[in-house]
Amino acid sequence: MTKEVNRLRGAGVDVIGLGAGEPDFDTPDFIKAAAIKAIEEGKTKYTSVDGIAELREAIASRFQKRYGVDCASDHVLVGCGAKHILFNALLASLNEGDEVIIPAPYWVSYPDMVRLAGGTPVIVPCSAADGFKLTADALRAALTPRSKWLIVNSPSNPTGAIYSHEELASLLKVVREHESVCVLSDEIYEQIIYDDEIFSSCAAVARDVSKDLTERVLVVNGVSKAYAMTGWRIGYGVGSVELIKGMAKIQSQSTSNACSVSQYASLAALTGDDGFMAARTSAFMARRDMVVAALNDMAGMVCDVPQGAFYVFPSCAGVLGKKDETGSVIASSLDFASYLLRVARVAVVAGEAFGMEGHIRISYATNDETLKTATRRITDAITQLR
Ligand code: PLP
Repeated sequence: MTKEVNRLRGAGVDVIGLGAGEPDFDTPDFIKAAAIKAIEEGKTKYTSVDGIAELREAIASRFQKRYGVDCASDHVLVGCGAKHILFNALLASLNEGDEVIIPAPYWVSYPDMVRLAGGTPVIVPCSAADGFKLTADALRAALTPRSKWLIVNSPSNPTGAIYSHEELASLLKVVREHESVCVLSDEIYEQIIYDDEIFSSCAAVARDVSKDLTERVLVVNGVSKAYAMTGWRIGYGVGSVELIKGMAKIQSQSTSNACSVSQYASLAALTGDDGFMAARTSAFMARRDMVVAALNDMAGMVCDVPQGAFYVFPSCAGVLGKKDETGSVIASSLDFASYLLRVARVAVVAGEAFGMEGHIRISYATNDETLKTATRRITDAITQLR
């Protein structure tokens, strides 16, 4: 979608992109300064495959402090983004035909990553009534002797839903009954949460459910979203020593270490003053409220208030079945997204990409003026449907 937006812009079309999953804020100056210092000090060579010791130690100690779980740096792997860590984990652990349970709506990359690693994605639809979250009963019904991983993503892309401690505990209790199943917890939006919501890490919940379970949880996180560092490409995984070793082995034969300069920048990010985040989160929250209100005023659209991340995932069911400017029926959210691109000149992502038709995803990680113009244009485009 970003590519299409850039193509249209290149052709002189005034198009607003609400498809991208990255903050519009800049990387904070103290992080940039750490990177410049690293360059000036010649920290520009290969590093250890699993990451520089200082960064792995900082991640381990952050884990202990934030979640109260025992963690040492041999439980940590640093890679080229959370995406890379997820891919390493799946490649290191899946055999042909192993199943990975993915609650839908899901982040677009999970099913394809599983397939690339030789596994079989098992998609479990989660209803809006359940807050788009997996329930213990649905998990139990999806488990088979081939199940290897359950993927949990909280706060979620695309819905912004957050699993409470109790909800995660109920899932982990089911997992505990199935010895060969592990949990891959993607916590990349951990620091982007609103209102009085409380984030719970699967690592901490696993420890509360049963100490032996912590060995079966891999937490994936990174600096991309919270620190506005999407381009620096640093993510990390925290899990059992055995799994981390396997993942490092895969990484050693593909990318080797993540960029040395980015690792020093990430060290500054994770150990520095994160006071800048409060203002950014308030800005995101104000935008969220504005976009949710605008969407709920549009005929045929229904939007719940998300608790985290920077996306809304409204239902467009009330728009489907109407006719567009050519008289063709808008039969799917994909049709609706292409109608919005054509007529409103606003790019959104169709629910199909996240395994859930009847919705679109809008990223509100862009400035207020742009969001106001975009929602006005979408309203006008919907009004023109017959
Ligand atoms: N996981 C989720 C849920 C995401 O939304 C994204 C990026 O959009 C990633 C992982 C990838 O993060 P990174 O940029 O660190 O690879």
